[in-house]
Amino acid sequence: MIIKYTNYSDGIHELNLSESTQKLGLDDSFFGNAEVKIKMDKSIHQIVLDCNLTIHSHVECDRCTEKVDKEFTNHFVLSYIFSKSNKSTDDFNFKYLSTESDKIDITEDVFEYSELSIPLKKLCKDDCKGLCPKCGKNLNYDNCTCQNETTNNVWEPLQILKEKLNNKK
Ligand SMILES: [Zn+2]
Ligand SMILES: [Zn+2]
Repeated sequence: MIIKYTNYSDGIHELNLSESTQKLGLDDSFFGNAEVKIKMDKSIHQIVLDCNLTIHSHVECDRCTEKVDKEFTNHFVLSYIFSKSNKSTDDFNFKYLSTESDKIDITEDVFEYSELSIPLKKLCKDDCKGLCPKCGKNLNYDNCTCQNETTNNVWEPLQILKEKLNNKK
């Protein structure tokens, strides 16, 4: 994903880049294209890229283990300062740009932010009911007979507490 910035005048430009997740080197859980909407702010001293990334991935739900295809987004800002010397930084979002170069390659950044866009807790949907801990049925599709017992168990500690309080009287 390369931006040849010498093609653009100073000022703000909207760019849309797209690259297949395979070409980006992402693993098989990703599919389709990574799309990046970029607001590029170019001036004499620096270039700032405000990036909105959209990516698709196969994920397994942490609650019901069902495999679903989901869209994830991520936002990041990359700043490039023009520099005559070949300086480099460890900073992920802040880089130096040689005055001799004419393009920016954001492939690595898109790769990193694609991986970061996958949340630690993956759900097929926000209100996923998960699997019954007793019979293993997917409760998004089916109710099972053990569900009533588990619902009652939720109130059991309260029941015990109530009895204790009553005994104190
Ligand atoms: Zn689920
Ligand atoms: Zn059950």
